[in-house]
Amino acid sequence: MKRLLIPAVLAAPLVAPTAAGDTTTGSIAHLSPLGETPDWSRLDPYQRGITKPDFLHQWQSNYDGSQGTPPSPLVTILEDRVRIVKCFKRPDDVYELFFATSPGSARPSRFWRSVQELPPARSPDQPLDGLRIAIDPGHIGGDWAKMEHRWFHILSGVTGDPKEPAPATLPVKEGDVVLQVARRLEAKLVRLGAKVVLVRSQATPVTSKRPPDFLETARIAGNFPSDATFENSPALASTAERLFYLSEEIRARSRKINQTLRPDLVLCLHVNAEPWGDPEHAAFVPSNHFHLLINGNYSAGEIAFDDQRLELLLRLLQGIHPEELAMSATVAGVMAESIALPPYTYTTPNARRTPLSEYVWSRNLLATRLYACPVLFFEPYVMNHELTYTRVQAGAYEGKREILGEARVNLFEEYANAVAEGLEAYFRNHRRQFSGGPPGSQP
Ligand SMILES: [Zn+2]
Repeated sequence: MKRLLIPAVLAAPLVAPTAAGDTTTGSIAHLSPLGETPDWSRLDPYQRGITKPDFLHQWQSNYDGSQGTPPSPLVTILEDRVRIVKCFKRPDDVYELFFATSPGSARPSRFWRSVQELPPARSPDQPLDGLRIAIDPGHIGGDWAKMEHRWFHILSGVTGDPKEPAPATLPVKEGDVVLQVARRLEAKLVRLGAKVVLVRSQATPVTSKRPPDFLETARIAGNFPSDATFENSPALASTAERLFYLSEEIRARSRKINQTLRPDLVLCLHVNAEPWGDPEHAAFVPSNHFHLLINGNYSAGEIAFDDQRLELLLRLLQGIHPEELAMSATVAGVMAESIALPPYTYTTPNARRTPLSEYVWSRNLLATRLYACPVLFFEPYVMNHELTYTRVQAGAYEGKREILGEARVNLFEEYANAVAEGLEAYFRNHRRQFSGGPPGSQP
C-alpha cells in the first residue's frame, strides 16, 4: 500500500531491528520490535505432519518473498525435510523438519477448527452454529486516536464555495468507527449461531502497559542519548508510543486470543484511508475502495527475523492459509457486491493479490501473523473520501437516508451486514449440516 497518512503498516519496522541477547544460551536472536526469542521446539508436534508438495506449494505461492526477491536462504527445502536456520546470526544452527511420506489424516496441533472439522450445523438458519469468532476492532480509538494517527478532521469550508463554510464536522476516529461496527456485527453473528467475543469492547488498550514503559527499549533501539526524556525528545517519545500502540498492543491482543479466547476465526475490522497531505488543510481524496487481507507475502528482511520465521512456519504447518484463502474469497465477493466498492490495487511489493479474488491480498501484518488461527483483516471504505466521511458524520440513523444523492443505510450497519452475509454464504456452502451429510446437503 502506498504511504498513508494513516499507515496500515503494522508490519513495518518501528525502529531498527533489535539484537536481544539470550543469556541462557548465549545466542543472539535477530528479533522484530518486542519480538520473543523463538522456541523452535514448538515445531516438534508438526514433524512428519505435512507432505513435501503441500509444504512447497504453500511456501512458494504464499509465504516466500515479495515480488521479485530470490528464495530465502534461511529455509532450504530438501528431498525429505526442510532445513531452517534457527538464528539469523548463526547459519549453522538449524532445525530440521521432516516431511510426511503420504497425506495423513491426523489433525495438526492447533486450537481452531476448520470448516470441515466443525460438527454439523443444527439448524438451516444457523450456518455458524457453535463457531467461535473473535472480533478485533482495529486500533484503540477514543483519547488514543490522535497518538495512533487514526484521527481525521476535514474542517469546514474545504468543499464547495470557500466563502460559504460547510457545516462543522466531528473528528473521525477509526478505532471508534470499527468498534460501532463490531457491536452490530456481534449481534448478527450470534443470530447466525456463532459464539462471539470482542477482543476490545471499549476505547481503551488491551495491554496494561503504557508508552513510558517503552522508554528504555526506544532509547536503545533508536540510539537516543542517555539524557533524552519523554519531555525533551519528541523523537524518543514518538518511538516509545509506536512501540506501545503498533507492537505491544497487538501482542497483548494476540496473547488474549491465543491463550484465552482460542477462537476458530478472528475478524480484524478496519477502515482505510488515503494520503491527504497537510492535515491542517485536509481535503477529500477522489478514490474509495475495498480490500481484504490474509497473512502471507513475507519479504526477505521479514523472514530474516528469527521470531517472524517461526511464526510463519507455525501458520503454514497448521494449514491456516488454505482456510483463509477459500473463506476470504467468498466473503470478499459477497461484501464487494453489498458495499459496491471497487478493489484496491497495491502498487508496492508488500502485498500480493491472491488467485481466488481480486479483492483479497496476502500481506504480513503483525495481527494477521500473530493470531494463531485463520484471520480476515478487512479494509473497506476510504475515510477521507467525501462519501465515507459524510456517512460517518450522519451516524447510526435508522432505515435509509439520502446521502450525496442516494438512499443508503448507515455505514456501520452496511459494513456489519456485509461481513455477516459473507460469512453466512461461506459456511452455508461449505459446512456439513444436520445429520453429517456432505457439504451443502439439505435435511
Ligand atoms: Zn486500521
